[in-house]
Amino acid sequence: MARYVFITGGVVSSLGKGLASAALGALLQARGFSVRLRKLDPYLNVDPGTMSPFEHGEVFVTDDGAETDLDLGHYERFTGVSARKTDSVSSGRIYSNVLEKERKGAYLGKTIQVIPHVTNEIKDFLAVGEDEVDFQLCEIGGTVGDIEGLPFFEAIRQFAQDRPRGQCIFMHLTLLPYLAASGELKTKPTQHSVKELRAIGIAPDVLVCRSEQPIPEKERAKIALFCNVRPDAVIPAYDLSTIYEAPLAYHRAGLDRAVLDAFQISPAPRPDMSRWEDVMDRITRPEGEVRVAIVGKYVQLEDAYKSIAEALTHGGMANRVKVRAEWIDAEIFETEDPGAHLQGFHAILVPGGFGERGTEGKIRAAQFARERGIPYLGICLGMQMAVIEAARNLAGIADAGSEEFDHEAGKKRFTPVVYHLKEWVQGTHKVERKVSDDKGGTMRLGAYSAHLTEGSRVAEIYGTTRIEERHRHRYEVDMKWRDQLEACGLLFSGVSPDGRLPEIVEHKGHPWFIGVQFHPELKSKPFAPHPLFASFVKAAKEVSLLV
Ligand code: GLN
Repeated sequence: MARYVFITGGVVSSLGKGLASAALGALLQARGFSVRLRKLDPYLNVDPGTMSPFEHGEVFVTDDGAETDLDLGHYERFTGVSARKTDSVSSGRIYSNVLEKERKGAYLGKTIQVIPHVTNEIKDFLAVGEDEVDFQLCEIGGTVGDIEGLPFFEAIRQFAQDRPRGQCIFMHLTLLPYLAASGELKTKPTQHSVKELRAIGIAPDVLVCRSEQPIPEKERAKIALFCNVRPDAVIPAYDLSTIYEAPLAYHRAGLDRAVLDAFQISPAPRPDMSRWEDVMDRITRPEGEVRVAIVGKYVQLEDAYKSIAEALTHGGMANRVKVRAEWIDAEIFETEDPGAHLQGFHAILVPGGFGERGTEGKIRAAQFARERGIPYLGICLGMQMAVIEAARNLAGIADAGSEEFDHEAGKKRFTPVVYHLKEWVQGTHKVERKVSDDKGGTMRLGAYSAHLTEGSRVAEIYGTTRIEERHRHRYEVDMKWRDQLEACGLLFSGVSPDGRLPEIVEHKGHPWFIGVQFHPELKSKPFAPHPLFASFVKAAKEVSLLV
């Protein structure tokens, strides 16, 4: 049966709880344990799928088609364990399950209450898969004291109480603010945060203290005394130059040791940190630098394209170069010449997105990359825009466009080279959708396989002709244009197994121009860079060596 580590946060949000959880997962793996990381989010959305990227950052899609929090992306990148639908839950989902059961009469006429009905639903979620791994690490979103979070805190308290002693521990992240005027680190907010936790019945076993300044031994002892944790379970967490330093840094700070001690696991298996030492070696000693322009819509918030930024870093690690990704708002190219902004970049990436705003700019960026022979990677919407560019400028379909924008504008303006996908095959069954369907969870989501054309560039990059990648889209390039576009040099080099949906396009004769309908960035890891990103950065490196 799995041991549980519950990870909570206090004092302020954005302390890096997700990263600390992911790093702990990596450290337990380094000691030979199997882990599963899970996220419980107190917000009332059923899932983050319908939230704006500006609100919540990127939506991370799992193989089994769940739209989840971007922390699941961290978990996967650090542990290599593929996230699943059952690794993430929100208050919205919990309440929606409870209300559905109530309507079905499952509670036999009882009055439905937060305790025990909502908390039981949360505990049922926590118990899922407990026989599968050595450790389940469960992170609670938000900070202690948040109103929405209370049922989750109550549920983890009950869960630990229900279980045999020693099966669950609590790890709490806090902040030690530094007062420059008095030159002091202040421990009071941490004390208050722990007090708040203890008031709801949770006594932390391990405290992770974020600090910009070194934490003196005296302060550590004080925190231990006032917060009732052992001194060696007060773990300092300083700012890092890269997130991938987190496993080594937390190991040096004694986090894994403190966690194993709290479970009384002794002797602790020796850790093998070689994977992370190699990752750090590649990041800290690059042999060159490439500049990649990311032409997108949600450029003000870097978290909106989190996995893409990380996958580019991984691509850099594969080629021993540092990737400098710069974000450019696609709308600029609707009024200004792309050349003026894209000069000096070694590659161009157009990421996924929704809605019409900025799409004409993306089309111009694709045209610029195609005409100038600059490496181009189009992801999802970025692929669709590349196809529309080719349709307009090579195949002569001057009003080529996407039905997505016609739906938005409420009138027909384009020849739909990209159309609304209403049915497709998933495994052995057919999925059907209507334009009027709910917005939440109704896209073509999750892992689908694709067949690659023998001898194509993508087949060479992947080293195989069968791949499986994650999808999240509602619109699709129409196969009826295939022959016309291929005659102009845009090859459909990857298609769904039934041959009905295009998955990859590439420009014949271009040094590196690939558009993919899926999201390769979601599967890239620092210790296993995604082949498309490794190859894309390699192409950028070649351009950088020419100039
Ligand atoms: N908006 C496009 C679609 O729904 C692309 C989606 C995406 O880029 N993830 O097909």
